[in-house]
Amino acid sequence: MVDRPRIGISACLLGEPVRYDGAHKRDAWLVEVLGPQVEWVAVCPEVEAGFGTPREPVQLERDADGAIAMMTVRTRCDVTETMQRYTSRRVAELADEHLDGYVFKADSPSCDPGEGLFARALIARLPGLPVIDERRLTDPAVRTAFVEDAFAHHRAWSAKRSAGLSGERPAGRSESVALGSAVVVRVHDGARVSHVDRTAVEEPLEIRLHGQPFAVIMRTPGADKELAAGFLLAERVIHSADDLGVIEYCTDTQPQSSPRSLSEKVTADSAPSAVAFRNVVNVTLADPSHLERLLADRRNVQTNSSCGLCGRRTIESLASDAAPIRADITIPSSIIVTLPHRLRAGQAVFDETGGLHAAALVTADGELVDLAEDVGRHNAVDKVIGRMLMRDRLPLSDHLLFVSGRTSFEIVQKALFAGIPMVAAVSAPSSLAIDLAQEFGITLIGFVRGETFNIYAHADRVTPP
Ligand code: SF4
Repeated sequence: MVDRPRIGISACLLGEPVRYDGAHKRDAWLVEVLGPQVEWVAVCPEVEAGFGTPREPVQLERDADGAIAMMTVRTRCDVTETMQRYTSRRVAELADEHLDGYVFKADSPSCDPGEGLFARALIARLPGLPVIDERRLTDPAVRTAFVEDAFAHHRAWSAKRSAGLSGERPAGRSESVALGSAVVVRVHDGARVSHVDRTAVEEPLEIRLHGQPFAVIMRTPGADKELAAGFLLAERVIHSADDLGVIEYCTDTQPQSSPRSLSEKVTADSAPSAVAFRNVVNVTLADPSHLERLLADRRNVQTNSSCGLCGRRTIESLASDAAPIRADITIPSSIIVTLPHRLRAGQAVFDETGGLHAAALVTADGELVDLAEDVGRHNAVDKVIGRMLMRDRLPLSDHLLFVSGRTSFEIVQKALFAGIPMVAAVSAPSSLAIDLAQEFGITLIGFVRGETFNIYAHADRVTPP
């Protein structure tokens, strides 16, 4: 089960019969559209305060001194103190629940976000919490903004938890960091239906070397340290786990050099430090003596990145950096044809979004030992390789790398640096990827679909079923 945003809500909006007359105010959009994407925390202040159902309605009145009192309408009982006592206890409890938003019932003496005694106390206690009332949700733009705010709030909280800054909320899966939302109109047979869709989050990750900016990668949040390790391996900044010092999220709150997503801008006031922590990692090297040269080389690559390889070295020049792979691993074709299905089965975030690439490491007998998802294929590859590097498991000479989509030169290059002798993909390899695989002893497989696939280089490692 995926960790979802936790949204407080006036219980009557979910259809619970808690109104003064035993009725409810069920809101179909909240229950049927937003409901499946979130975890509701339903609260009826008047019932929880002990007023019962059905009950005499209450209203807010101002006394001669201008103080607001909650009075029963017919019998004129002052229930202000009862509600205030309940409110102070319940608001404290909800503050510990790590809510990501709240939907209030408008025009209620308890729940209206402008006037209600309970709602006002909660908003005062949690000033950064996205809140709305059900009447304003009828405006599509306001509704969309609220949903985005709540999901961004949830991502910021999840990132904070990932960075070890809070451990109070029950643990969920880290995929929540990778999931966003969008309100979409789905058209089917000409009919239009409003729908909240899960989306794959794409945000910048700045990688610093000893505190100095080195690279910015667009990626899906999650496994950021592994991504940084895999990226630095592919860039030849490091060659093994021994070269790594420490990888940690940046703990200063200085403005980042990388841009922020729109949703982060929306919530920047409420969770600025969580955003800062989330999108910058600082890496120290075991031997920093080459740091200045690395940074200078990087600047040189960036200013000369207009060629097809983004400034990376050509196949010929790779020969000075890596030797051909001579691993004797073999894998039967009967295992290879199962890989797309097994990759797909392991993609938790793809299940939610339908929009992420994945990379997996597979052993000779078909065991899927690791899998990573990201909006970028290259990032997914860096994440699985980086994880193995951090466990000091390189070279991966008894593994096959399987990726969704196409195989580019860069992906084969990453496999080469990690010592992976076999690369397979759902789609076609590029011509440069084939050249590189042939030159450096890597078995390259493409178009793994149904019962068929093509082998573009070193076919001897694929054995009959
Ligand atoms: Fe209960 Fe609030 Fe709904 Fe009134 S508006 S019934 S207090 S949840």
